[in-house]
Amino acid sequence: MAEKAFNPFEMAQRQFDHVADKLGLDQGTRDFLRTPCREYHFLIPVRMDDGNVKVFRGFRVQHSDARGPAKGGIRFHPHETIDTVRALATWMTWKTAVVDIPLGGGKGGVICDPRELSDREQEKICRGWVRQVARNVGPIQDVPAPDVMTHGQHMLWMMDEYEAIHGGRLPGMITGKPVGMGGSLGRTEATGYGVVYTIREAAKEIGLDLKGATAAIQGAGNVAQYTLDLLQQLGTRTIAISCWDNTDKKPYTYRCKEGIDFKKLMASIDKFGTVSPAKAKANGWEQLEAGAWIEQEVDILVPAAQENEVNAGNADKIKATVKIIAEGANGPTTPEADEIIQKKGIFLIPDFLCNAGGVTCSYFEQVQCNMNYFWDRDEVLRRLDLKMTSAFKAVSALAREKKVYMRDAAYMISIQRVADACRLRGWV
Ligand code: NAD
Repeated sequence: MAEKAFNPFEMAQRQFDHVADKLGLDQGTRDFLRTPCREYHFLIPVRMDDGNVKVFRGFRVQHSDARGPAKGGIRFHPHETIDTVRALATWMTWKTAVVDIPLGGGKGGVICDPRELSDREQEKICRGWVRQVARNVGPIQDVPAPDVMTHGQHMLWMMDEYEAIHGGRLPGMITGKPVGMGGSLGRTEATGYGVVYTIREAAKEIGLDLKGATAAIQGAGNVAQYTLDLLQQLGTRTIAISCWDNTDKKPYTYRCKEGIDFKKLMASIDKFGTVSPAKAKANGWEQLEAGAWIEQEVDILVPAAQENEVNAGNADKIKATVKIIAEGANGPTTPEADEIIQKKGIFLIPDFLCNAGGVTCSYFEQVQCNMNYFWDRDEVLRRLDLKMTSAFKAVSALAREKKVYMRDAAYMISIQRVADACRLRGWV
């Protein structure tokens, strides 16, 4: 019998049901929170550079706006599915709640491969996406941001289209914009640095000295890069990273026992986080098979690529040296792998806490846009560290108090906050 395909939304619902039971949530609140509130599905016709019209499928899902406008990224990916977008929108609700910012959860996407599209074609997709949802997103409804394979330029095209439709300057409609055009300093590094702030706190709890520690990271994109950067500043060597190779159409792991240097990494990758095999070779990095990153004898593992990457098929291969798993990606670990990680006694920092630095900084960006006054980088990172650290401490204190897994503790805090907001509004 063929194996059932991984469905991230089913996984998000399973995680929710598990904690709803622990919290004893009533049926109405469960029904309301386990499914997104609103979904938009639409087509984006684009006249391509060759003169033909190609039609792309776009989505926006708003899981919850009980605590504030929905918030979440837009992904451009050839394998994007509505259930992935639903799962990610749901996780955004828990993420904004766990760091206690006044926003809800949303996510969007377009089925496309920007690696195969010209800048003009990508601009048309961005403007087309906004035209379809211009009445349903914006500073008081739902605030998009960059995500996998989208970046500041895409956000700016989207903002420009939105402003043209609504008339006026509305930079708070979207975040992740370039600095100087409504963007916040520190946003580029916010998610990766946030991952490391939580690793730092976890290390303190378990008595791991980050100076001299080692890590392996899956991914070499935005999150992975800045995780590696701050880990390196704290004295932790990242000895392996892995990334997708678009020429061979498969991922590889690159290993360097002395630790991959941040500046060398940045000089060896393209804007999609693909390491050039030739440059890796010149740097003296070994090229290994895709899955090798998870099998390294390191203290810290950081899955920072995509969903379903730590699963029943490979969680057993995690070495006994591993003390912390910090989920930089969204949904990297399946419930089956969670059981194995728990049995191994590894300290897990769950995704929607671990990678909440991005949305927290996006929230700061919105605040700065609304004030029309922008903070310096140190101020942004100081506030980010405060938010991430206090969220981490609240989750880990609850995990200890209730003797539950860190993921469950994070869910318990988030779901309770969102359920309370729904109840106070009189919705449930
Ligand atoms: P990105 O597009 O910049 O990088 C993704 C990286 O993953 C690339 O290096 C790519 O080569 C690699 N990759 C893809 N498939 C792979 C595979 N099968 N094996 C190994 N590597 C693979 O994306 P990003 O912004 O760094 O996001 C990474 C993850 O973090 C995603 O799950 C995203 O949803 C999540 N996230 C991102 C942010 C953010 O601010 N960028 C915030 C929160 C969560």
